[in-house]
Amino acid sequence: MEKILIVGCKKTMDDLCIACSRCMVGFNRKVGEFSRYEGKDTELIGILNCGDCPGAGIVNRLVQIHLWNKPLDEKITKVHIANCLLDNCPHKEALIAKIKNKAGVEVIEGTHPFAPQSIFA
Ligand code: SF4
Repeated sequence: MEKILIVGCKKTMDDLCIACSRCMVGFNRKVGEFSRYEGKDTELIGILNCGDCPGAGIVNRLVQIHLWNKPLDEKITKVHIANCLLDNCPHKEALIAKIKNKAGVEVIEGTHPFAPQSIFA
């Protein structure tokens, strides 16, 4: 069973990107970077924000969600970096490096495939 944690941008999540629903729909439909889970038992454990600029708290936040889920016997097996963070964050290189360095599980860059191709067309 894969247990997925999505990490995204605090300044975007549930604000510019309402309800983080594109990541959730992408996960439910197993499309975009979630297509790798097609036909596999997979659950979404959480959608975690980076902790705000410049993302200095990300490692502590990963520890927090791990401890938060431990009594529930839930263990994250994959981390996905959300598109909001990949597309917009000026600190993303350092942030993603910290996550990859400390997560201890595979870290996948990307989530849903629903970015609009154009605004007015
Ligand atoms: S550190 Fe990056 S991901 Fe986090 S709020 Fe700032 S811009 Fe968004």
